[in-house]
Amino acid sequence: MTDTPSQVRPDMAEMMRRRGLKEWSLEVIGAAQITPRMRRVSLKVDGAEPFEPKPGQDIVMMLPDGAGGLGRRHYTVRSFDPVRQQVEVDFVLHGDATPGVRFALSAQPGERVLAFGPRGRNVINPGADWRLFVGDETCIPPIFAMLESLPAGAKAHAIIEIGSDADRQPLSSAADVTIDWISREGAHAAPMSSGLIERLAARPLPEGRGHAYVLGETSTIRRQRHDLLARGLGKDQIFGEGYWRPGRVGGHDHLEEH
Ligand SMILES: Cc1cc2nc3c(=O)[nH]c(=O)nc-3n(C[C@H](O)[C@H](O)[C@H](O)COP(=O)(O)OP(=O)(O)OC[C@H]3O[C@@H](n4cnc5c(N)ncnc54)[C@H](O)[C@@H]3O)c2cc1C
Repeated sequence: MTDTPSQVRPDMAEMMRRRGLKEWSLEVIGAAQITPRMRRVSLKVDGAEPFEPKPGQDIVMMLPDGAGGLGRRHYTVRSFDPVRQQVEVDFVLHGDATPGVRFALSAQPGERVLAFGPRGRNVINPGADWRLFVGDETCIPPIFAMLESLPAGAKAHAIIEIGSDADRQPLSSAADVTIDWISREGAHAAPMSSGLIERLAARPLPEGRGHAYVLGETSTIRRQRHDLLARGLGKDQIFGEGYWRPGRVGGHDHLEEH
């Protein structure tokens, strides 16, 4: 696969630049299966400026759309090594026929991908007394990147839904972190996840001023945001972003913040 300029619609690349996003050429170094439904692709970052992602931020990758063009797909920077200029991106294998999944399954060393970013306000709020992260497997990359960045003494809890127990991942963090894994017992991810909604509703909110990150399928996180507001959290204490929903192609959904 290449990222020759003819494949990138000029308006699409221009739109990214107008948004102030930096442009990168990523070269595939390798790929590995890390759990049954997650594949990690390692890429070398090449660009004119320093690549400085904050934990939790994503890049917009221009991936072959199967019809001769390229489509935009958001993927989190799971980790970045500034010395090697190497980034790791974890792809959920939610099928085998979509551009994101096809790229993860077929990526070969030497292939190049155009990307824009890093972007996003999904970053650690430094002033919080505690943090709560909720999401499906699509959100393991940002949740783990943020948890790993927390210092000793910080308190965090994560509620993460996965396809099966084999999709759990080990976490290494200096912070005081607990993770509540919810297995779908092999079922596919679906809207309005009762597992996530009920587990969050049952979770007591600690004393002090906390911050909640609700990420993942759009209808699930809308409901979770609504429930957290009803339990007394302020709008400024909740970050929500729709990572996917049935029928949507690429992109992301903002949650109303006012
Ligand atoms: C800020 C941000 C960061 C993200 N980070 C990551 C990441 O690090 N890793 C990651 O894997 N994804 C991540 N995502 C989600 C990813 O961008 C979407 O899942 C995207 O749709 C995948 O592209 P695709 O080509 O596979 O499917 P698309 O062609 O975009 O979608 C086709 C259809 O597939 C279904 N679908 C899409 N995604 C999923 C899913 N996750 N589970 C079940 N069904 C789905 C929907 O029905 C959709 O209409 C992120 C999204 C955002 C907004």
